Amino acid sequence: FNEDPAFWKDHNVQVIIRTRPLSSSEISVQGNNKCVRQDNGQAITWIGNPESRFTFDLVADENVSQEQMFKVAGVPMVENVVAGYNSCMFAYGQTGSGKTHTMLGDIEGGTRRHSVNCGMTPRVFEYLFSRIQKEKEVRKEEKLHFTCRCSFLEIYNEQILDLLDPSSYNLQLREDHKKGIHVENLKEIEVSSARDVIQQLMQGAANRKVAATNMNCASSRSHSVFTCIIESKWVSQGVTHHRFARLNLVDLAGSERQKSSGAEGERLKEATNINKSLSTLGLVIMNLVSVSNGKSVHVPYRDSKLTFLLQDSLGGNSKTIIIANISPSSSCSLETLSTLKFAQRAK
Ligand code: ADP
Ligand code: MG
Repeated sequence: FNEDPAFWKDHNVQVIIRTRPLSSSEISVQGNNKCVRQDNGQAITWIGNPESRFTFDLVADENVSQEQMFKVAGVPMVENVVAGYNSCMFAYGQTGSGKTHTMLGDIEGGTRRHSVNCGMTPRVFEYLFSRIQKEKEVRKEEKLHFTCRCSFLEIYNEQILDLLDPSSYNLQLREDHKKGIHVENLKEIEVSSARDVIQQLMQGAANRKVAATNMNCASSRSHSVFTCIIESKWVSQGVTHHRFARLNLVDLAGSERQKSSGAEGERLKEATNINKSLSTLGLVIMNLVSVSNGKSVHVPYRDSKLTFLLQDSLGGNSKTIIIANISPSSSCSLETLSTLKFAQRAK
């Protein structure tokens, strides 16, 4: 497993596959039977009929640690943000494939010094604040100053809910010259340490649970978006400069085929909305790749709340990273194939 973050160079979209270990109950039911075989750090074979081999920027097997995932994907993302560019990281995959483990992991244990299971987001922020500190020291003369504000929202059934202020639901997306695309009335909290961020993450996770119960939905059917706006200000030759960069960390709704057959009313609407937002996201990402290859196609950003919200953070100099999580269990074979195919299209 090559954890050298230099592999980002010249690419604005990176696709990583991450396989979780078999669970003990899967092993007790079907032994060590798996639906995939890892060929090397960039190739994986789906063992089915017919066998299919896929290649990606990186394939992480079940032994790759949270720390290694952070080094390979989190570090270059933070560097990009510190340089003033937007970044988006998405965790894609069926429910139970490891999305939340990857993005959050064990956050109660604090940052990486304390827990091996601590996931991407807390590690990213610990690193971000240490990088900010370093930049400030290096550019003392310019009076470099940073402000970080975070927000945490959930998109369920095309409705936006503020996870840091659960009394706010069905928030509206707006677009204007000053703020660009933004969520009206979304709570933003200033943070200055990884600990501040973890506190907001935990608050948001708790609110997400309550909301899921109240709305009778599983969090697996909603997207959660944690955003940090990093504003920097410095003085050069008597002129004050401002820069904004957005860092978006997205735990997507489960990608399993939402059954619309037999579903009615709200359930049918919900299934349709999830399928639509994930397929629109797929189109957006495919287009980012074709643009960097010199082609461009029309992208229906506005077809889903998720892609509309992230429109300003995708494309241009932004970096996008997709971690497609898969289960190796033979009982998940078809969903795993479908995730590999989705990720392949994003390449
Ligand atoms: P999702 O968010 O995609 O529904 P989870 O992140 O909740 O899936 O993962 C399902 C289960 O598998 C959890 O118990 C989680 O701790 C475990 N798990 C997922 N990925 C890994 C991994 N790479 N290593 C160890 N355990 C994992
Ligand atoms: Mg989850």
